[in-house]
Amino acid sequence: MNPQTVAPAGAATRGQADETATRAYLNIIGGKAVPARSSKTFENRNPARPDDLVGTFPLSAAEDVSDAVAAAAKAYESWRLVTAPRRAEIIVRAAEILRDRKEQLARTMTREMGKVLAETRGDVQEAIDMAYYIGAEGRRLFGVTVPSELPNKMAMSIRQPLGVCGLITPWNFPMAIPSWKIFPALVGGNTVVIKPATDTPASAHLLVEALAEAGLPDGVVNVVHGSGGAVGVPIVMHPDVKMISFTGSSEVGKDIAARCAPSLKRLSLELGGKNAQIVMDDADLDLALEGVLWGAFGTTGQRCTATSRLIVTKGVREALLPRLVDRAMKLRLGDGLDAAVDVGPVVNTKARDGIHAYVEIGKKEGAKLLCGGSFAEEGSLKAGSFYHPTIFDQVTPKMRIAREEIFGPVLAVLTVSSLDEAVRVLNDTPYGLSSSIYTRDVNAAMRAVRDIEAGITYVNGPTIGAEVQLPFGGVKETGNGHREGGPTVIDAFTEWKSVYIDYSGKLQKAQIDR
Ligand code: NAD
Repeated sequence: MNPQTVAPAGAATRGQADETATRAYLNIIGGKAVPARSSKTFENRNPARPDDLVGTFPLSAAEDVSDAVAAAAKAYESWRLVTAPRRAEIIVRAAEILRDRKEQLARTMTREMGKVLAETRGDVQEAIDMAYYIGAEGRRLFGVTVPSELPNKMAMSIRQPLGVCGLITPWNFPMAIPSWKIFPALVGGNTVVIKPATDTPASAHLLVEALAEAGLPDGVVNVVHGSGGAVGVPIVMHPDVKMISFTGSSEVGKDIAARCAPSLKRLSLELGGKNAQIVMDDADLDLALEGVLWGAFGTTGQRCTATSRLIVTKGVREALLPRLVDRAMKLRLGDGLDAAVDVGPVVNTKARDGIHAYVEIGKKEGAKLLCGGSFAEEGSLKAGSFYHPTIFDQVTPKMRIAREEIFGPVLAVLTVSSLDEAVRVLNDTPYGLSSSIYTRDVNAAMRAVRDIEAGITYVNGPTIGAEVQLPFGGVKETGNGHREGGPTVIDAFTEWKSVYIDYSGKLQKAQIDR
């Protein structure tokens, strides 16, 4: 098929998108595929090969958000009354559709944002895992039942849905992150309006199509494509949207928090990170080397949990660093669809320029560049937004490259003398998402687990690789205390109601009748 052919609206089979075709996607509102009211569109291009147009999408605005919220509010009236086990069955059916279509979905995702196929398969798998996990929640959704202090009285609590949830997602996990939000919202009895990132609108769209195929009633999940300002802000501000779940940068998260504050709208924020891997003198260095390579340069360093600092003790730095630099320089860059490639492009040229600006800052701050530090423009790489894996040595804790999220393949190495110093340096950033320590000393490992300020700590594993069945999120400027993933995600998407049933047949006064 000609790569530039735009399929007529609605012509592509639901959920299908082959890796050369260009598809004209529409919004999904009330179960119908509709263009933006303005009829405007935007393009989604492959960052490895910008001549590859993945799709066109509606450039929506506040009026489209209003339509979607109205559809979600209408669907809520009946969806909240569907029992949780029945709601979960639809989610599990969607998982089966995603599983059958995994390869195709992964290839579309690699085209839209660049990460290598093994990782986009993992991204789809995470959505499948989340669907099975949340599917099982349909038969739990536990509350608490406790004894009453009064006779002939029952005291228990139940979970209730919130209403219409507004979901706003980033581009780096194009299907996994929407799945962490959509599935728990649905099992809890909520309806949804989702705005995916403009760099990766196709993957979230295909996820919602799988849900529709699985039997989700019209209007329960609505997709509105478009920018943060034109679509994200109206979702946040809409009075009929009862809850916002946002994953993205801390800067935008703070803006959303300020907008939600006047109405006290419920808000779950999963934000940026400046994650570190500690390597102690007694560590298994081969293991630590594999860990830092994967943590720093997997997903081209564009994970919220990516290892952007390596904190290494004096005794092992000389043994570790030359090997690390050698391996980083050998990583093969290229189109993520090529099985021989280790590292794909960064998501777009603006992101690449931002990464390079940080490299310049690092040089000016006096850090020593060990490798990388430039655009990768050899041969066919020139057309795409590639950046060489970069390692800085002699980084100190107060340097900006040690404190600020760069969100690219840049690793800062800091040298310390002890575990206490390592933990102090690790904690010395505004963020607190993921962390890791490599050591064979169980006492050191347990002290690190206790003292590190982060939502996630790995022992003898890299900073990346969270599983859906544990709480996911972080402290400080990484979030506002919610945890999506694990059983805690249900708390984000449900409201507690305490229920007292007095079967004494008389007025009983708690705290007084004793
Ligand atoms: P971003 O904050 O720029 O955008 C995220 C989403 O918000 C996008 O859909 C965007 O269109 C929308 N948006 C932008 N401005 C908005 C506004 N004012 N109001 C409402 N919506 C708005 O982030 P990004 O570049 O897409 O993603 C990278 C960031 O996401 C990094 O900081 C990364 O650490 C973070 N992230 C965090 C987690 C986590 O779970 N903690 C996971 C993945 C990514």
